This record gives sequence, structure tokens and C-alpha cells, in this order.
Amino acid sequence: MQEKLRIAIQAKGRLNEGSLKLIEEAGIKLVIGRRNLVSPAMNFPVEVLYLRDDDIPQTVACGAADAGIVGENEVLERRENVTIVKRLGFSKCRLSLAIPKQVDYPGISWFTGKKIATSYPQILASWLKEKGITSEIHVINGSVEISPGIGLSDAIFDIVSSGSTLVSNRLKEVEVVVASEAVLVAHPAISEIQRAVLEEFIFRLESVQRAEGKKYILLNAPNEKIPDITAILPGMKSPTVMPLAESGWSSVHSVISEDDFWEVIGRLKKAGAEGILVVPIEKMIF
Ligand code: ATP
Ligand code: MG
Repeated sequence: MQEKLRIAIQAKGRLNEGSLKLIEEAGIKLVIGRRNLVSPAMNFPVEVLYLRDDDIPQTVACGAADAGIVGENEVLERRENVTIVKRLGFSKCRLSLAIPKQVDYPGISWFTGKKIATSYPQILASWLKEKGITSEIHVINGSVEISPGIGLSDAIFDIVSSGSTLVSNRLKEVEVVVASEAVLVAHPAISEIQRAVLEEFIFRLESVQRAEGKKYILLNAPNEKIPDITAILPGMKSPTVMPLAESGWSSVHSVISEDDFWEVIGRLKKAGAEGILVVPIEKMIF
């Protein structure tokens, strides 16, 4: 029985770097050979398979890979039998309809009878059907955004993130159909052993994600100020308070969020905190 978990990731392109970063953050060290299709890990029961992103859903569905990291847009388009086990929060984008900038847009009825160029015909067809609109779908696999400009279509349905590609092609986004981000998918029937490996991988990713945007704070204060200071600092359970060698003084340790960092520091100083140290947190495990 196959005990390793084989994870498919994009070989080259926008998802590659983010996928490798997750694997690295989970403490998995890959043996990277020259242009290998598969890299085993040195210290964890996984191996990584490098593919075109279009092929990842099918490869996972047929069991040639047990899991994969891929854009949700590809998962929705391919309609393969895979389970989304975790949303990964990177490569965020949306699939939208866009039309030439100068055209007045009265609403979705505009698309009736229009020709729409896309690489995502399945997602588009089901959205149009749901809205009761009949359009002509023209499938193209690259440079979708130039097709209205060269008279190949009236509109496009494509990936948008900042919108700058649309602007440079004199298009405007008129309908957002779905939002997408990178997701971790798995074959629906992996073995118990592989599921345990997958769960350990997810557990490690979540420990790193939880630590993002959090800092560890240490400070000293006279004992009589401690109640005010601990009221400002929530911590994971509650702040740690330890006596200092100098009598009448204590040290307080806690975890704070980067969002309100400076505000909290200001309140701590006012409440009598001294010698404040702030250090990064690599992982948080509950
Ligand atoms: P491949 O050669 O593997 O088929 P590709 O050209 O199809 O690559 P990329 O352009 O590398 O694909 O994009 C991969 C995925 O990254 C997309 O399916 C989408 O989920 C996401 N993505 C694409 N464009 C953007 C963007 N501008 N911002 C954020 N994420 C994006
Ligand atoms: Mg692709």
C-alpha cells in the first residue's frame, strides 16, 4: 500500500512559489533534482509532483496524485471528483465578465446573443443558464483579453485581480461571477495513513498561519501596575506574569496582534510598562 502522500503542485507559474512556500513552512524539505517531475521529501512522508495547473484536478481525481494545490477556478471548471480540504489564502482573484469600456452596460441582459471569449466555458455556461441568458461561448486558451479588440468576441469572461490588464485592453469589469484562491484538494478515497499525513500537513500550515500578524511581547512593570497592564493584554489564555529578581517588580509576557500594535504599546506605556520587547512568532500551536 502506498504510504506516502503525493501532492501535485504547479510546475511553473503564479501558484508555484506560494505552493513551495507552504511546503517549506510546514517544515518539509524536498530533494530538488534537476528538472525532476517528482521530488521526494527528506523528512516527511510526502512527494511533490510538478504539473500544469490545468491537469491538477484530474490527476488528483484519478488518484495519480493524492492531493494538490490549485486555483479554485480550475477546480470549478474541471468538475472532477476532488474534495477541497483547505482554502489557502493566496493567489486570490475572481472570474468576471468584461466588456469594451465605451459600451453602455444596462445589466446582464446585455449579454443576450453576444459572443463571449473565455478559457472557463463550464463556469460561464452554468452562470448564464442560472441567469436565463443565452450567449455564444467562444473558447480560447490564452490572451483572452485581446479578443474584443481584434473583433473575435463582444466580451470576455476571465481572471481579474487588480484589473490593470482590463484597463490596458480598454475593457471594464461588469459582473463578478466567482471569487477564487489557491485551495488544497484531495482524492476522496485516500488511505487512512495518507489521511493522517494530510491532516498533519494541514495542522502545520494552520500553526504557521495563526502566527501571521501576531507578535510576542515582554515587558516589566511595578507589581501595583500589573492589574491595569494585564487588562490591556489578552494573550492566548491570559498573560503570563512572573516575578523579577528585583522585589516589587514583575515581567509580563503575552501575544498581541499587529493590527492594533501601536495603540496597545501606547496604552501599555501609559499604564506603567517599561523595557518593552516585541519578538516575532514563527508558529502557534494550541
Ligand atoms: P500552467 O502553465 O500551469 O497551465 P497557467 O498559465 O494556466 O499555468 P497561471 O497564469 O500561472 O496559469 O495562473 C495559475 C492560477 O493562479 C490561476 O488559475 C488562478 O487561480 C491564479 N491567478 C491567475 N492570475 C492571477 C492574478 N492576476 N492574481 C492572482 N492569482 C491569479
Ligand atoms: Mg493552466
